[in-house]
Amino acid sequence: MAGPRVVPFTPEVVRACLCVRCPVQARSRCVGGKVEKLEVVLGAMEREGAAEGEVPKAYCSQGTATCPDLDYNEPCICPGCPIFSRYDLGGKMPALYYCRKGGAK
Ligand code: SF4
Ligand code: SF4
Repeated sequence: MAGPRVVPFTPEVVRACLCVRCPVQARSRCVGGKVEKLEVVLGAMEREGAAEGEVPKAYCSQGTATCPDLDYNEPCICPGCPIFSRYDLGGKMPALYYCRKGGAK
């Protein structure tokens, strides 16, 4: 059975997240479009709360990516992220590739 969400979906987590620098997303046109709108979406998120699906980051929290054109042959860079260590994600499932496998439980 699915457990509770480990990492909260907050603007602070989104800002700390490294996913937009990840090679898995580097050539995604879909992600590129969302990155262009990211500051606006984050501003709305700070005022009104969640914007899941519109933010191409923090997949360890929000779960799988909505963009279909990610390249999972490239390496996931989550282990270098401060959120990964703060929430001890190395000891939880799924390990890495949250954009494909869903959020940490
Ligand atoms: S652990 Fe990965 S998905 Fe989670 S915030 Fe960091 S880079 Fe993003
Ligand atoms: S969850 Fe991992 S593989 Fe997916 S975009 Fe973020 S850093 Fe890259």
